[in-house]
Amino acid sequence: MLYEPVIGLEVHAELETKSKMFCPCPVVDATRAEPNVAVCPVCAGMPGVLPVLNRKAVEYGLRVALALKCEVMPVSIFARKNYFYPDLPKGYQISQYEQPLARQGHLDILTSQGERTIRIRRVHLEEDTGKLTHISSPGQAQTSMEQEGDKSAYSLVDLNRAGVPLVEIVTEPDFHSAEEVRAYAVALRSLLRYLGVNSGDMQKGVLRIEPNISVRPVGSPELGTRVEIKNLNSFRVLERAVTFEIQRQTEALQRGERIFQETRGWDDEQEITILQRRKETEDDYRYFPEPDLPPLVIDSQWLHQVQSGLPELPAERLQRFQGQYGLSAYDAGVLTAEMAVADYYERAVQSALTASPKMIANWVTGELFGWLNQVALSIDHSPVSPQSLAELADLLAQGEINQNTAKAILTEMLASGKPAGWIADQRGLRLVSDARVIAGWVSQVLHEHPEQVNSYLAGKETISGWFFGQVMRLAKNQADPEVLREELERQLHKLKGEKICEICHR
Ligand code: ADP
Ligand code: ZN
Ligand code: MG
Repeated sequence: MLYEPVIGLEVHAELETKSKMFCPCPVVDATRAEPNVAVCPVCAGMPGVLPVLNRKAVEYGLRVALALKCEVMPVSIFARKNYFYPDLPKGYQISQYEQPLARQGHLDILTSQGERTIRIRRVHLEEDTGKLTHISSPGQAQTSMEQEGDKSAYSLVDLNRAGVPLVEIVTEPDFHSAEEVRAYAVALRSLLRYLGVNSGDMQKGVLRIEPNISVRPVGSPELGTRVEIKNLNSFRVLERAVTFEIQRQTEALQRGERIFQETRGWDDEQEITILQRRKETEDDYRYFPEPDLPPLVIDSQWLHQVQSGLPELPAERLQRFQGQYGLSAYDAGVLTAEMAVADYYERAVQSALTASPKMIANWVTGELFGWLNQVALSIDHSPVSPQSLAELADLLAQGEINQNTAKAILTEMLASGKPAGWIADQRGLRLVSDARVIAGWVSQVLHEHPEQVNSYLAGKETISGWFFGQVMRLAKNQADPEVLREELERQLHKLKGEKICEICHR
């Protein structure tokens, strides 16, 4: 029997607010800050304290909801999700459950199979938990966010992350391949970065992806039993884990086994998913409305304000780049994935005089990206400004320099920060296109090589290519090739005694 995968995604994104969701503690960089430096009685779960909702976190959540074309609910409710775990000092997590911030949106993605629309089921706000570091034997620290039945000797608790605002974005089960899942994750990360709500720094754990995967016989209207894979934090691991899990389930069904609803984790060393816990029954979180927080009311004025503050989003910008600059979907995609890159590109295009947008796209995605990658710099730190890059492209477009010279000049611009024109002048790199100068070089070469001229006159016309090379050598590669070709042809024809047009000299 043939099986097809069905996948839905839950994504947790930390919101880059200054302070936490319900208290004034700062949000600190998890990988840099000392443990437990950003903790107060509220996020430490002391008795008798009261949460106060961070307005900025709601605004960021609204940005996400609107960018995903969701319906924003006029009233949403915070609830207590009760469970016991050492990284959750209150004994419950404040989250939105029955009445989320927003629902029913969509995100369009591009795959090798064409465009796909992924439906968004809900977008809701919640708070993050703390972080545990499990020590299994002295000197061995292992960090994990959720680990059932682990054999640690003891665990360390860091509450810096407890109470950091999160937005959770849940899709409908609309994916049917690991490629689609990856494309969505990439597009969502790009969107969150455009919105300025999340850095997209996946190694730091600020964006965590949980795929729910099932397989079913092709054509079956029902969904198979799903398995949830916890906390994947790179695109590579996401793609591998989904691919592995599809295969594991398909093979199990083919052997006549059944799939259990369970939570699994990714083992990066063995490249397999590993059972964490099996859900025989639904988890009972005993949800109930948070009594210490009033319902969250979003009035239309606030909503409009957030809507009008949204930037042009990556998908819209991609479309515009294709139309306005005549770029391929691929180039437009590469240039719009990051807002800083798109801004850089547009500034360069605007300041160019003759260079085409296509030519500038090639310089940005080719030479400039190559160099930035090598030295691990982001485009904001490029020593070559968009205006400088445009000046270089203009020199090339105007025939002042050739392609190879342009590359050499860019290398020097990146090293010294000097403008292209200045480098070209200093090093005498501009092309010579003065026909009289070039004519002089051509006749010098022809005079110096009577033997080759004779074989040309004897009918070996292919030797003209060799003359071309000799003149270029004499000109140190700086002769305008078009002018040189014309001039060489003219003089060779003349030697042959052929009639030359008086007007165009050919
Ligand atoms: P929870 O995991 O909190 O119980 P849901 O039941 O709403 O939440 O589902 C979470 C995710 O799992 C959603 O993205 C949904 O699309 C996806 N999902 C639900 N059922 C299936 C299934 N049978 N196969 C694949 N994905 C599924
Ligand atoms: Zn606090
Ligand atoms: Mg889930």
